[in-house]
Amino acid sequence: MKESDTLRRFMFEKFNIRGAFVHLDATWRAPLDLKDYPEVVRDQLGQCMAAGALLSSTIKYNGSMIMQIQSEGPLKLLVVESTGDHTMRSTAKWDGDVTPGNLEHVFGKGRVVFTVDSETAKDRYQGIIDLKGENVAETLETYFRQSEQLETRFWLAANGKSAAGFLIQKMPGSGDDDQEAWNRAQILSATLTDKELLGLSAEEILKRLYVEDEIRLFESEPLSFRCSCTRERVSNVLRSLGIDEVHKIIEEEGDVSVTCEYCNQKYSFDSVDAEALFASHVPPNTSATKH
Ligand SMILES: [Zn+2]
Repeated sequence: MKESDTLRRFMFEKFNIRGAFVHLDATWRAPLDLKDYPEVVRDQLGQCMAAGALLSSTIKYNGSMIMQIQSEGPLKLLVVESTGDHTMRSTAKWDGDVTPGNLEHVFGKGRVVFTVDSETAKDRYQGIIDLKGENVAETLETYFRQSEQLETRFWLAANGKSAAGFLIQKMPGSGDDDQEAWNRAQILSATLTDKELLGLSAEEILKRLYVEDEIRLFESEPLSFRCSCTRERVSNVLRSLGIDEVHKIIEEEGDVSVTCEYCNQKYSFDSVDAEALFASHVPPNTSATKH
């Protein structure tokens, strides 16, 4: 039986190859319960959520990592955010009917933007690559080859119940033996079906794929859905709009309402809230003269 909502890293004992599996269940169904996604959008989003979890296993960071696909086709925007403590959220935007097809058909011309947003400036990072190839997995492989000089392979799958993925990566400093093992690992990994990836445990998949290799499988790391939106964050956005703009909206609409795109949480501010919003943020010098 597979474990739910977990990330499992593994490594080949004798070769310079590492990998990771991710199985998302409740973490994946949470965004599905919030929005009625067309099937094509749903499966792309699920694959990207699995990819986001896998990516977060390849680097260490505090804060959040955002993988965003921006494109001109029917599926316009896809966002997956994962935090250093393994919580995730995701959302997508699309126009009209999104019919099944290859990457270009679904997304049109597009690009993937990776952002690591960290509290410390030294960990902040942004990378961009054009959406290209058969699927998102292939785009990610190209990205790792070009930007990180790391041979990496991704397999991603999703349906209405679960999303899953795994990666293998050839580590720097590999010799001839490693190259041979890497070639073999890729061929064996490619035999795994989506159904197996979605339904089998990490142990079962490793046994099924690399029966002749010694593999060290690490402890499972739990993943969960959590939205990081707060009333305070929305307040900051409203403050940046300015007091006049906020008053204008309240005059026209009665209040200012902001709905979180990730979790549908609604934040409303009436005229009293708006007063408090700006009163509490008067710069220290001017507030001193008021007393
Ligand atoms: Zn939210």
